[in-house]
Amino acid sequence: MPDEIETRPWSDQLAADERAYRAQLDYLLEHSPFYRDKLAGLSWAGGLAEIAELPLTEKTELRASTTADNPIGAHLCVPREDIVRIYSTSGTTGTPSYIPLTAGDLDNWVIGSARSYAASGARAGERVVSTYSAGPFVAGAALAAFDRIGLSHVPVGTGNTARLLTAIELLRPEIVALTPSYAAHLIEVAAERGIDLAGSSVTRLLVAGEPGGGEPAFRDRLERGWRARVTEAMGIGDIGPSLWGECEQQDGMHLGARGFVHAELIDPDSESARELEDGASGELVLTHLRHQAAPLLRFRTRDHVQVQMTPCACGRTGPRVRCIGRTDDMLIVRGVNVFPSAVREVVSGFAPDVSGHIRVRPRAAGVKQEPPLPVSVELAQDRAPDDSLAESIRERLRSVLVVQTDVQLVPWGSLERSDYKSKLVDH
Ligand SMILES: [Zn+2]
Repeated sequence: MPDEIETRPWSDQLAADERAYRAQLDYLLEHSPFYRDKLAGLSWAGGLAEIAELPLTEKTELRASTTADNPIGAHLCVPREDIVRIYSTSGTTGTPSYIPLTAGDLDNWVIGSARSYAASGARAGERVVSTYSAGPFVAGAALAAFDRIGLSHVPVGTGNTARLLTAIELLRPEIVALTPSYAAHLIEVAAERGIDLAGSSVTRLLVAGEPGGGEPAFRDRLERGWRARVTEAMGIGDIGPSLWGECEQQDGMHLGARGFVHAELIDPDSESARELEDGASGELVLTHLRHQAAPLLRFRTRDHVQVQMTPCACGRTGPRVRCIGRTDDMLIVRGVNVFPSAVREVVSGFAPDVSGHIRVRPRAAGVKQEPPLPVSVELAQDRAPDDSLAESIRERLRSVLVVQTDVQLVPWGSLERSDYKSKLVDH
Protein backbone atom coordinates (compact mmCIF):
# COMPACT_ATOMS: atom_id res chain seq x y z
CA MET A 1 0.00 0.00 0.00
CA PRO A 2 1.29 3.49 -0.82
CA ASP A 3 1.88 5.70 2.21
CA GLU A 4 -0.36 8.69 2.77
CA ILE A 5 2.15 11.16 1.33
CA GLU A 6 2.31 9.26 -1.96
CA THR A 7 -1.42 9.59 -2.62
CA ARG A 8 -1.90 13.24 -1.65
CA PRO A 9 -3.09 15.44 -4.55
CA TRP A 10 -0.10 16.49 -6.67
CA SER A 11 -1.08 20.16 -6.26
CA ASP A 12 -0.66 19.76 -2.47
CA GLN A 13 2.76 18.22 -3.08
CA LEU A 14 3.77 21.15 -5.26
CA ALA A 15 2.62 23.60 -2.59
CA ALA A 16 4.80 21.83 0.01
CA ASP A 17 7.66 21.68 -2.49
CA GLU A 18 7.35 25.41 -3.10
CA ARG A 19 8.05 26.16 0.58
CA ALA A 20 10.90 23.65 0.69
CA TYR A 21 12.43 25.03 -2.50
CA ARG A 22 12.47 28.64 -1.27
CA ALA A 23 14.10 27.53 1.98
CA GLN A 24 16.63 25.47 0.00
CA LEU A 25 17.48 28.49 -2.18
CA ASP A 26 18.05 30.65 0.91
CA TYR A 27 20.21 27.86 2.34
CA LEU A 28 22.30 27.69 -0.86
CA LEU A 29 22.86 31.44 -0.96
CA GLU A 30 23.99 31.32 2.65
CA HIS A 31 26.13 28.16 2.66
CA SER A 32 27.16 27.21 -0.89
CA PRO A 33 30.12 29.10 -2.40
CA PHE A 34 29.36 27.35 -5.72
CA TYR A 35 25.79 28.67 -5.95
CA ARG A 36 26.56 32.07 -4.43
CA ASP A 37 28.92 32.51 -7.33
CA LYS A 38 26.61 30.93 -9.94
CA LEU A 39 23.56 32.92 -8.88
CA ALA A 40 25.43 36.20 -8.34
CA GLY A 41 23.55 39.15 -9.80
CA LEU A 42 20.12 37.55 -9.42
CA SER A 43 18.13 40.04 -7.35
CA TRP A 44 15.21 37.66 -6.81
CA ALA A 45 15.39 33.97 -7.64
CA GLY A 46 11.61 33.46 -7.50
CA GLY A 47 9.74 30.23 -6.79
CA LEU A 48 9.31 26.90 -8.57
CA ALA A 49 7.34 28.59 -11.37
CA GLU A 50 10.47 30.59 -12.22
CA ILE A 51 13.02 27.81 -11.71
CA ALA A 52 13.73 27.51 -15.45
CA GLU A 53 15.19 31.03 -15.36
CA LEU A 54 18.03 29.76 -13.17
CA PRO A 55 21.14 28.22 -14.74
CA LEU A 56 21.54 24.44 -15.08
CA THR A 57 24.23 22.61 -13.13
CA GLU A 58 26.59 20.33 -15.04
CA LYS A 59 28.62 17.53 -13.48
CA THR A 60 31.77 19.01 -15.05
CA GLU A 61 31.28 22.34 -13.24
CA LEU A 62 31.16 20.59 -9.87
CA ARG A 63 34.28 18.66 -10.74
CA ALA A 64 36.07 21.81 -11.88
CA SER A 65 35.36 23.48 -8.52
CA THR A 66 37.39 20.94 -6.53
CA THR A 67 40.73 21.96 -4.98
CA ALA A 68 43.39 20.25 -2.92
CA ASP A 69 41.79 21.79 0.18
CA ASN A 70 38.27 20.89 -0.91
CA PRO A 71 38.25 17.64 -2.96
CA ILE A 72 34.44 17.54 -2.76
CA GLY A 73 33.88 20.85 -4.56
CA ALA A 74 32.60 24.38 -3.91
CA HIS A 75 29.02 23.08 -3.56
CA LEU A 76 29.92 21.62 -0.14
CA CYS A 77 27.82 23.45 2.47
CA VAL A 78 28.59 21.81 5.82
CA PRO A 79 31.58 21.41 8.12
CA ARG A 80 33.50 18.14 8.12
CA GLU A 81 31.98 16.93 11.40
CA ASP A 82 28.42 17.08 10.00
CA ILE A 83 29.17 14.58 7.21
CA VAL A 84 28.24 11.00 8.10
CA ARG A 85 29.06 9.38 4.74
CA ILE A 86 30.90 10.09 1.49
CA TYR A 87 30.06 8.12 -1.65
CA SER A 88 32.03 8.23 -4.88
CA THR A 89 30.96 8.10 -8.49
CA SER A 90 33.11 6.11 -10.88
CA GLY A 91 35.18 8.77 -12.55
CA THR A 92 36.05 7.85 -16.12
CA THR A 93 39.05 10.17 -15.90
CA GLY A 94 40.69 8.74 -12.80
CA THR A 95 39.73 10.90 -9.83
CA PRO A 96 36.26 10.06 -8.51
CA SER A 97 33.62 12.67 -7.65
CA TYR A 98 32.65 12.65 -3.99
CA ILE A 99 29.08 12.83 -2.72
CA PRO A 100 28.83 13.84 0.95
CA LEU A 101 25.74 13.30 3.11
CA THR A 102 24.59 14.50 6.51
CA ALA A 103 22.61 12.12 8.73
CA GLY A 104 19.41 13.86 7.58
CA ASP A 105 20.37 13.56 3.89
CA LEU A 106 21.05 9.85 4.28
CA ASP A 107 17.75 9.28 6.05
CA ASN A 108 15.86 11.12 3.29
CA TRP A 109 17.58 8.93 0.69
CA VAL A 110 16.48 5.80 2.52
CA ILE A 111 12.86 7.04 2.88
CA GLY A 112 12.66 7.83 -0.86
CA SER A 113 14.31 4.54 -1.89
CA ALA A 114 12.04 2.57 0.42
CA ARG A 115 8.98 4.14 -1.23
CA SER A 116 10.37 3.39 -4.70
CA TYR A 117 11.05 -0.26 -3.88
CA ALA A 118 7.88 -0.78 -1.85
CA ALA A 119 5.89 0.41 -4.89
CA SER A 120 6.84 -2.90 -6.55
CA GLY A 121 4.59 -4.71 -4.08
CA ALA A 122 7.51 -6.00 -1.97
CA ARG A 123 6.27 -6.24 1.61
CA ALA A 124 7.57 -6.85 5.11
CA GLY A 125 8.50 -10.44 5.79
CA GLU A 126 9.45 -11.26 2.21
CA ARG A 127 13.01 -12.22 1.37
CA VAL A 128 15.15 -10.31 -1.15
CA VAL A 129 18.50 -11.33 -2.61
CA SER A 130 20.46 -8.27 -3.76
CA THR A 131 23.36 -8.22 -6.20
CA TYR A 132 24.47 -4.61 -5.76
CA SER A 133 27.70 -4.03 -3.98
CA ALA A 134 27.53 -1.92 -0.81
CA GLY A 135 30.91 -0.49 -1.89
CA PRO A 136 31.75 3.09 -2.80
CA PHE A 137 28.77 3.80 -5.01
CA VAL A 138 25.50 5.52 -4.16
CA ALA A 139 23.51 2.36 -5.05
CA GLY A 140 24.81 0.90 -1.77
CA ALA A 141 22.69 3.40 0.18
CA ALA A 142 19.55 1.97 -1.42
CA LEU A 143 20.21 -1.35 0.30
CA ALA A 144 19.16 0.25 3.61
CA ALA A 145 15.73 0.73 2.00
CA PHE A 146 15.18 -3.05 2.18
CA ASP A 147 15.54 -2.95 5.99
CA ARG A 148 13.20 0.04 6.12
CA ILE A 149 10.51 -1.90 4.22
CA GLY A 150 11.00 -4.82 6.60
CA LEU A 151 12.33 -7.25 4.00
CA SER A 152 14.69 -10.03 4.93
CA HIS A 153 17.78 -9.03 2.96
CA VAL A 154 20.35 -11.48 1.58
CA PRO A 155 23.20 -9.49 0.00
CA VAL A 156 25.31 -11.59 -2.38
CA GLY A 157 27.11 -8.69 -4.09
CA THR A 158 28.15 -8.18 -7.68
CA GLY A 159 29.77 -10.76 -9.90
CA ASN A 160 29.08 -14.00 -8.07
CA THR A 161 26.61 -15.97 -10.14
CA ALA A 162 27.16 -19.29 -8.34
CA ARG A 163 26.51 -17.69 -4.94
CA LEU A 164 23.36 -16.01 -6.29
CA LEU A 165 21.91 -19.18 -7.84
CA THR A 166 22.65 -21.15 -4.67
CA ALA A 167 20.96 -18.48 -2.51
CA ILE A 168 17.87 -18.66 -4.73
CA GLU A 169 17.78 -22.44 -4.52
CA LEU A 170 18.42 -22.80 -0.76
CA LEU A 171 16.97 -19.62 0.78
CA ARG A 172 13.94 -19.43 -1.53
CA PRO A 173 13.62 -15.61 -1.82
CA GLU A 174 10.49 -14.02 -3.29
CA ILE A 175 12.52 -11.14 -4.74
CA VAL A 176 15.84 -10.57 -6.55
CA ALA A 177 17.30 -7.07 -7.07
CA LEU A 178 19.70 -6.73 -10.01
CA THR A 179 20.38 -4.96 -13.31
CA PRO A 180 18.15 -5.95 -16.26
CA SER A 181 21.27 -7.11 -18.17
CA TYR A 182 22.22 -9.47 -15.39
CA ALA A 183 18.64 -10.77 -15.12
CA ALA A 184 18.80 -11.61 -18.84
CA HIS A 185 22.25 -13.19 -18.51
CA LEU A 186 21.09 -15.40 -15.63
CA ILE A 187 18.32 -16.88 -17.80
CA GLU A 188 21.02 -18.17 -20.17
CA VAL A 189 23.32 -19.36 -17.38
CA ALA A 190 20.48 -21.23 -15.68
CA ALA A 191 19.51 -22.89 -18.98
CA GLU A 192 23.12 -24.04 -19.52
CA ARG A 193 23.34 -25.48 -16.01
CA GLY A 194 19.92 -27.13 -16.14
CA ILE A 195 18.48 -24.87 -13.41
CA ASP A 196 14.74 -24.17 -13.59
CA LEU A 197 14.65 -20.42 -12.91
CA ALA A 198 11.01 -20.13 -13.98
CA GLY A 199 10.12 -22.75 -11.39
CA SER A 200 12.07 -21.04 -8.59
CA SER A 201 10.61 -19.21 -5.56
CA VAL A 202 11.23 -15.80 -7.19
CA THR A 203 8.05 -13.90 -8.08
CA ARG A 204 9.44 -10.38 -8.39
CA LEU A 205 12.52 -8.88 -10.02
CA LEU A 206 13.50 -5.37 -8.98
CA VAL A 207 15.70 -4.04 -11.78
CA ALA A 208 17.74 -0.83 -11.79
CA GLY A 209 21.08 0.63 -12.86
CA GLU A 210 20.40 1.03 -16.60
CA PRO A 211 17.45 1.43 -19.00
CA GLY A 212 15.75 -1.75 -20.19
CA GLY A 213 13.47 -2.93 -17.40
CA GLY A 214 10.64 -0.80 -18.76
CA GLU A 215 11.00 -1.75 -22.43
CA PRO A 216 8.10 -4.09 -23.27
CA ALA A 217 9.93 -6.72 -25.37
CA PHE A 218 12.97 -6.83 -23.09
CA ARG A 219 10.77 -6.95 -19.97
CA ASP A 220 8.72 -9.76 -21.53
CA ARG A 221 11.89 -11.80 -22.07
CA LEU A 222 12.81 -11.38 -18.39
CA GLU A 223 9.29 -12.15 -17.16
CA ARG A 224 9.03 -15.34 -19.21
CA GLY A 225 12.53 -16.51 -18.29
CA TRP A 226 11.99 -16.01 -14.56
CA ARG A 227 8.19 -16.33 -14.44
CA ALA A 228 8.28 -13.22 -12.24
CA ARG A 229 6.95 -9.67 -12.38
CA VAL A 230 9.58 -7.10 -13.38
CA THR A 231 9.48 -3.53 -12.03
CA GLU A 232 12.20 -0.97 -12.44
CA ALA A 233 13.75 1.79 -10.32
CA MET A 234 16.06 4.66 -11.25
CA GLY A 235 18.26 7.17 -9.46
CA ILE A 236 21.26 9.33 -10.24
CA GLY A 237 24.41 9.38 -8.13
CA ASP A 238 24.65 13.10 -7.44
CA ILE A 239 20.99 13.46 -6.43
CA GLY A 240 20.08 10.12 -4.83
CA PRO A 241 19.60 6.37 -5.37
CA SER A 242 16.31 4.85 -6.58
CA LEU A 243 14.49 8.19 -6.67
CA TRP A 244 11.89 6.63 -8.96
CA GLY A 245 10.19 3.26 -8.66
CA GLU A 246 7.58 1.41 -10.63
CA CYS A 247 4.40 0.00 -9.05
CA GLU A 248 2.63 -3.25 -9.85
CA GLN A 249 0.78 -1.55 -12.74
CA GLN A 250 4.18 -1.54 -14.57
CA ASP A 251 3.28 1.70 -16.30
CA GLY A 252 6.24 3.98 -15.55
CA MET A 253 8.16 4.91 -12.40
CA HIS A 254 6.64 7.02 -9.61
CA LEU A 255 8.74 9.64 -7.84
CA GLY A 256 9.47 7.88 -4.54
CA ALA A 257 11.66 10.84 -3.58
CA ARG A 258 8.71 13.24 -3.82
CA GLY A 259 9.15 16.09 -1.36
CA PHE A 260 12.93 15.63 -1.44
CA VAL A 261 13.52 16.25 -5.15
CA HIS A 262 11.85 18.46 -7.76
CA ALA A 263 11.76 17.18 -11.36
CA GLU A 264 11.86 19.20 -14.59
CA LEU A 265 12.29 18.40 -18.27
CA ILE A 266 14.52 20.19 -20.76
CA ASP A 267 15.33 19.95 -24.43
CA PRO A 268 18.86 18.46 -24.21
CA ASP A 269 20.10 20.48 -27.21
CA SER A 270 18.65 23.95 -26.62
CA GLU A 271 18.51 23.47 -22.81
CA SER A 272 15.11 25.19 -22.81
CA ALA A 273 12.48 24.00 -20.33
CA ARG A 274 9.69 21.67 -21.42
CA GLU A 275 6.37 21.42 -19.57
CA LEU A 276 6.17 18.34 -17.32
CA GLU A 277 2.93 17.14 -18.88
CA ASP A 278 1.42 13.91 -20.12
CA GLY A 279 3.30 12.58 -23.16
CA ALA A 280 6.21 15.00 -22.85
CA SER A 281 9.77 13.75 -23.24
CA GLY A 282 13.20 15.23 -22.70
CA GLU A 283 16.18 15.20 -20.38
CA LEU A 284 15.40 14.96 -16.69
CA VAL A 285 16.69 17.86 -14.58
CA LEU A 286 16.54 17.47 -10.79
CA THR A 287 16.73 19.88 -7.85
CA HIS A 288 17.22 18.96 -4.20
CA LEU A 289 14.54 20.38 -1.91
CA ARG A 290 15.75 19.43 1.57
CA HIS A 291 19.40 18.56 1.16
CA GLN A 292 22.17 19.83 3.42
CA ALA A 293 25.65 18.51 2.67
CA ALA A 294 25.92 19.49 -1.00
CA PRO A 295 22.50 20.32 -2.48
CA LEU A 296 22.21 20.71 -6.23
CA LEU A 297 20.02 23.02 -8.24
CA ARG A 298 18.78 22.09 -11.74
CA PHE A 299 21.22 19.21 -12.11
CA ARG A 300 21.40 17.69 -15.61
CA THR A 301 20.93 13.93 -15.22
CA ARG A 302 21.57 13.01 -18.90
CA ASP A 303 18.61 10.61 -18.59
CA HIS A 304 16.15 10.99 -21.42
CA VAL A 305 12.63 10.19 -20.18
CA GLN A 306 9.02 10.07 -21.28
CA VAL A 307 6.40 11.43 -18.85
CA GLN A 308 2.90 10.25 -17.93
CA MET A 309 0.57 12.33 -15.80
CA THR A 310 -2.61 10.21 -16.05
CA PRO A 311 -3.85 8.73 -12.74
CA CYS A 312 -2.34 5.36 -11.81
CA ALA A 313 -4.57 2.58 -10.46
CA CYS A 314 -2.26 2.18 -7.45
CA GLY A 315 -3.36 5.58 -6.13
CA ARG A 316 0.07 7.24 -6.22
CA THR A 317 -0.15 10.76 -7.64
CA GLY A 318 2.26 12.89 -9.66
CA PRO A 319 4.40 12.24 -12.72
CA ARG A 320 5.56 8.81 -13.85
CA VAL A 321 8.60 8.41 -16.07
CA ARG A 322 10.10 5.80 -18.34
CA CYS A 323 13.78 6.13 -19.19
CA ILE A 324 14.34 5.94 -22.94
CA GLY A 325 18.12 6.11 -22.68
CA ARG A 326 21.10 8.09 -21.53
CA THR A 327 21.74 11.29 -23.47
CA ASP A 328 25.42 10.28 -23.26
CA ASP A 329 24.75 7.08 -25.26
CA MET A 330 22.63 8.82 -27.87
CA LEU A 331 23.76 8.89 -31.49
CA ILE A 332 22.50 11.30 -34.12
CA VAL A 333 22.12 9.65 -37.51
CA ARG A 334 21.42 12.26 -40.16
CA GLY A 335 19.53 14.45 -37.68
CA VAL A 336 17.61 11.62 -36.01
CA ASN A 337 18.26 10.83 -32.33
CA VAL A 338 18.93 7.12 -31.81
CA PHE A 339 19.19 5.49 -28.37
CA PRO A 340 20.98 2.10 -28.38
CA SER A 341 18.49 0.79 -25.81
CA ALA A 342 15.68 1.58 -28.28
CA VAL A 343 17.52 -0.41 -30.97
CA ARG A 344 17.75 -3.35 -28.55
CA GLU A 345 14.03 -3.05 -27.79
CA VAL A 346 13.06 -3.21 -31.50
CA VAL A 347 15.43 -6.14 -32.13
CA SER A 348 14.09 -8.01 -29.05
CA GLY A 349 10.72 -8.11 -30.82
CA PHE A 350 12.28 -10.73 -33.14
CA ALA A 351 12.67 -13.31 -30.35
CA PRO A 352 12.80 -16.32 -30.44
CA ASP A 353 14.88 -15.92 -33.63
CA VAL A 354 17.34 -13.56 -31.86
CA SER A 355 18.99 -13.75 -28.43
CA GLY A 356 18.17 -10.11 -27.61
CA HIS A 357 21.84 -9.08 -27.43
CA ILE A 358 22.93 -6.30 -29.77
CA ARG A 359 25.90 -4.02 -30.27
CA VAL A 360 25.76 -0.73 -32.15
CA ARG A 361 29.11 -0.20 -33.86
CA PRO A 362 29.38 3.40 -35.07
CA ARG A 363 31.89 3.91 -37.88
CA ALA A 364 32.85 7.44 -36.82
CA ALA A 365 33.94 8.77 -33.42
CA GLY A 366 31.51 11.08 -31.64
CA VAL A 367 27.77 11.49 -31.65
CA LYS A 368 27.00 12.34 -35.30
CA GLN A 369 26.90 9.36 -37.66
CA GLU A 370 26.23 8.85 -41.33
CA PRO A 371 23.75 6.11 -42.33
CA PRO A 372 23.67 3.20 -42.48
CA LEU A 373 24.44 2.64 -38.78
CA PRO A 374 26.10 -0.76 -38.28
CA VAL A 375 24.28 -2.98 -35.75
CA SER A 376 25.37 -6.48 -34.72
CA VAL A 377 22.39 -8.64 -33.82
CA GLU A 378 23.00 -11.92 -32.05
CA LEU A 379 21.03 -14.95 -33.20
CA ALA A 380 19.27 -17.29 -30.81
CA GLN A 381 20.96 -20.58 -29.95
CA ASP A 382 21.01 -23.07 -32.86
CA ARG A 383 19.68 -20.45 -35.27
CA ALA A 384 21.50 -20.12 -38.63
CA PRO A 385 22.03 -16.71 -40.29
CA ASP A 386 19.27 -15.80 -42.67
CA ASP A 387 19.22 -12.83 -45.07
CA SER A 388 15.48 -12.36 -44.83
CA LEU A 389 15.67 -12.08 -41.01
CA ALA A 390 18.38 -9.39 -41.28
CA GLU A 391 16.25 -7.57 -43.83
CA SER A 392 13.13 -7.74 -41.61
CA ILE A 393 15.06 -6.34 -38.64
CA ARG A 394 16.53 -3.57 -40.81
CA GLU A 395 13.06 -2.69 -42.09
CA ARG A 396 11.52 -2.65 -38.58
CA LEU A 397 14.32 -0.39 -37.29
CA ARG A 398 13.71 1.94 -40.21
CA SER A 399 9.97 2.15 -39.65
CA VAL A 400 10.05 2.41 -35.82
CA LEU A 401 13.18 4.50 -35.21
CA VAL A 402 13.45 6.20 -38.63
CA VAL A 403 17.07 5.13 -38.95
CA GLN A 404 18.91 3.32 -41.76
CA THR A 405 20.99 0.48 -40.36
CA ASP A 406 23.33 -2.20 -41.60
CA VAL A 407 22.27 -5.32 -39.68
CA GLN A 408 24.92 -8.03 -39.23
CA LEU A 409 23.67 -11.28 -37.75
CA VAL A 410 26.28 -12.85 -35.45
CA PRO A 411 26.27 -16.34 -33.85
CA TRP A 412 24.80 -17.06 -30.43
CA GLY A 413 27.21 -16.34 -27.59
CA SER A 414 29.47 -13.99 -29.58
CA LEU A 415 28.45 -10.74 -27.87
CA GLU A 416 29.83 -10.25 -24.38
CA ARG A 417 27.41 -10.73 -21.42
CA SER A 418 27.47 -8.61 -18.29
CA ASP A 419 26.78 -9.26 -14.63
CA TYR A 420 26.36 -5.53 -14.18
CA LYS A 421 25.47 -3.04 -16.91
CA SER A 422 25.45 -3.86 -20.63
CA LYS A 423 27.59 -2.03 -23.10
CA LEU A 424 25.37 -1.41 -26.12
CA VAL A 425 27.70 0.80 -28.15
CA ASP A 426 31.17 -0.11 -29.34
CA HIS A 427 32.98 2.78 -31.03
ZN1 LIG B 1 1.19 3.21 -9.79
